[in-house]
Amino acid sequence: MTPDLFAWDNFDEKRERSKARELRSSQWWKRRLAKGVCYYCRRRMHPRGLTMDHVVPIARGGRTTKGNVVTCCKACNSAKKNLLPMEWDQYLKGFKNL
Ligand SMILES: [Zn+2]
Repeated sequence: MTPDLFAWDNFDEKRERSKARELRSSQWWKRRLAKGVCYYCRRRMHPRGLTMDHVVPIARGGRTTKGNVVTCCKACNSAKKNLLPMEWDQYLKGFKNL
């Protein structure tokens, strides 16, 4: 990996994170939060318990677009961070069987 490439990746991530900040203050996002439902587990909760999650993480090339950003509860957020992709799939399947 060349230093240039690294700088580019870094820049990309910064840009996406600043886009995420903008999106978080939009009416569109406030409406999503007001619904109070986690995209993954479908549990209803107080909007304050929800965070913004990138379905495809920025680190894996995901972008901050309305199609790639969802409301996510803290439990799912930390599960997504800590589980391997395969374990995460299993986690999601658990909710579909409910
Ligand atoms: Zn959840």
